[in-house]
Amino acid sequence: MKIICIGRNYTEHIKELNNETPEEPVIFIKPDTALLRNNNPFFIPDFSNDVHHEVEVVVKIKKPGRHIPLGFAKDYYDEVALGIDFTARDVQSQLKAKGLPWEKAKGFDHSAAISAFIPLGELTNEVPEGIYAAAFSLEKNGMVVQSGNTNQMIHNVDEIIAHVSEYFSLRIGDYIFTGTPAGVGAVKSGDQLKGFLAGKEMFNFVVK
Ligand code: ZN
Repeated sequence: MKIICIGRNYTEHIKELNNETPEEPVIFIKPDTALLRNNNPFFIPDFSNDVHHEVEVVVKIKKPGRHIPLGFAKDYYDEVALGIDFTARDVQSQLKAKGLPWEKAKGFDHSAAISAFIPLGELTNEVPEGIYAAAFSLEKNGMVVQSGNTNQMIHNVDEIIAHVSEYFSLRIGDYIFTGTPAGVGAVKSGDQLKGFLAGKEMFNFVVK
């Protein structure tokens, strides 16, 4: 399986990092060794002094596809999770300055924290729009540090799937991280991170 991630998908987050708003989704991929599950602790890697949390809604691909038309994209997922795209911001800044790929900053071991999946229908119980207007947030040590709503995405989940599948064949079990809202910031040893999606606690783990 692969972990496909979308960058710069929320306007307020683009502003906080002084990035340009992209015309097409910004795509990068993490290897399967990036997965962190089951509320296991996240260990800050030695090579970074500035690892940021990016809370993101994640969908799981349920059938194979490529060149998926926009109108059919919704048939390719029916479960959703909440995750954190951990980012070594200091490393990423150095790479960006040199125009180099972001992999070392984004794809390192355990950089893709992910909750258990829930059926999309659980979101529809909260709001009729379901995945298209789902509220989510991240608490750090009991304080809300990021909150967003999927209705703020520049490219919604279906548009992401249609676009990504022009370049990468999607397979059953692939994950798509759909971008982070504003409020990203550094984590430090001892922090407790709790994520909420549509009012439901999705993950709760510590940083070491
Ligand atoms: Zn991200």
